[in-house]
Amino acid sequence: MSSRVVNGGISFWYADDGFPEAREPLGGDASADVVIVGGGYTGLWTAYYLKKAVPFLRITVLEQKFCGYGASGRNGGWLYNGIAGRDRYAKLHGHEAAVRLQKAMNDTVDEVVRVVGEEGFDAGLHKGGVLEVARTPAQLARLRAFHEHELSYGEKDRELYGARETAERIRVADAVGSSWTPHGARVHPVKLVKGLAAAVEALGVTVHEQTPVTEIRPKHAVTPYGTVRAPYVLRCTEGFTAALKGQRRTWLPMNSSMIATEPLTDAQWAAIGWEGRQTLGDMAHAYMYAQRTADGRIALGGRGVPYRFGSRTDNDGRTQAATVEALREILVGFFPMLAGTRVAHAWSGVLGVPRDWCASVTLDRSTGVGWAGGYVGSGVATANLAARTLRDLVQQDSGQGGRTEFTELPWVGHKVRRWEPEPLRWLGVQGMYATYRTADRRELTSHRAESSRLARWADRIAGRH
Ligand SMILES: Cc1cc2nc3c(=O)[nH]c(=O)nc-3n(C[C@H](O)[C@H](O)[C@H](O)COP(=O)(O)OP(=O)(O)OC[C@H]3O[C@@H](n4cnc5c(N)ncnc54)[C@H](O)[C@@H]3O)c2cc1C
Repeated sequence: MSSRVVNGGISFWYADDGFPEAREPLGGDASADVVIVGGGYTGLWTAYYLKKAVPFLRITVLEQKFCGYGASGRNGGWLYNGIAGRDRYAKLHGHEAAVRLQKAMNDTVDEVVRVVGEEGFDAGLHKGGVLEVARTPAQLARLRAFHEHELSYGEKDRELYGARETAERIRVADAVGSSWTPHGARVHPVKLVKGLAAAVEALGVTVHEQTPVTEIRPKHAVTPYGTVRAPYVLRCTEGFTAALKGQRRTWLPMNSSMIATEPLTDAQWAAIGWEGRQTLGDMAHAYMYAQRTADGRIALGGRGVPYRFGSRTDNDGRTQAATVEALREILVGFFPMLAGTRVAHAWSGVLGVPRDWCASVTLDRSTGVGWAGGYVGSGVATANLAARTLRDLVQQDSGQGGRTEFTELPWVGHKVRRWEPEPLRWLGVQGMYATYRTADRRELTSHRAESSRLARWADRIAGRH
């Protein structure tokens, strides 16, 4: 079955929507008011909001390959209100601060929908919310706890469903319950990033592709083709950050892998349901995420080879056969009637994981160097909130603005220690994911409502709690 899978090629989304035409690389030394390193959602949204706020700003985006080459062109298309680190921010800054952060994230989903509408491009958007299902007693116990926990952050519109109500929405095998939030939409990741890059250029932002930045120094972004000088240099490189000089142990590049099926038949869709096109997740420790695509496929992801020694990142998204098969097994476990359905495409990408698993946004006022990221697996919407925050921090620092609701969010200026050197880094991550997989297997066979102790142990080692 796997021999017919298109493997890599960046992602299914590009196979579906086509690659963009290459933009010109940097042609020599240059200057700007703001230089942004990285042409993913974070970099492009930041350019968008800064240029909208101050139209005369000279903004340059430097992208090593092409806009959307990274996770922004490869993700699962969950535009949703999750943000990595919220619970830790509640501990550090108080519950009220974390509620503000959550509220800002809820609003961010609508903000992206609003801008996509205003700019008038197709991003394959469908706002059906997020449905997370439980398939074992232990998952159900976690689901209920998760649901209550989310309500405590002010999510009054979240709903808890039993087995029957879940089946009315989607027929997932063995589903015993689910939790649904309206704060989520399905997107076509590549249509979103391409539309955004075009909108940014139309506003007058300079975008250079095929231009790797080798070093970021205060007021300098250094590339093989010249240096761009600017009072503000914003690093928006997420899972690729480790390749920059001095950043090897900042954010760990973690892999996530996906598959997309061939388009399902009407009869298959009738059997599955899923008319609401909610993004779909589960409560396993090595969790899965999925969407019903605009062209009638299922795109489903989970952890592949989680981490490569020395913080290496892959190139074109080629994915190990064992990972493709593991994802196919998850698909068939969820929807047994798809046992004979072909997996059309498999791919992988990297996301950035800070040592304490907390996303953050920072502008160092003494140097003018800023950054945003460490979103772990929740960056599609978070990048937009980060961008509006970077905009306000730059405006505040340059005397064009004051404090705003965004500059006061608890993830601003968060400091985190660096990852361990190798081989500890590699051993730790491999061990953590092997443990999650074992914990899931034990929960499946034990039918107990209590979460495996192994998973809690892995969480502690990972620094997640
Ligand atoms: C398989 C997968 C599935 C995911 N699914 C979801 C999901 O469903 N929902 C969700 O919320 N999140 C998801 N994520 C995470 C989400 O995609 C990312 O958090 C988000 O796209 C990050 O955007 P970014 O712009 O910060 O980083 P990226 O999109 O990675 O962009 C960084 C850009 O910087 C460029 N760059 C890096 N280094 C340099 C350099 N030195 N010089 C110049 N350019 C450089 C890269 O080429 C890249 O284009 C997923 C991630 C992966 C990999």
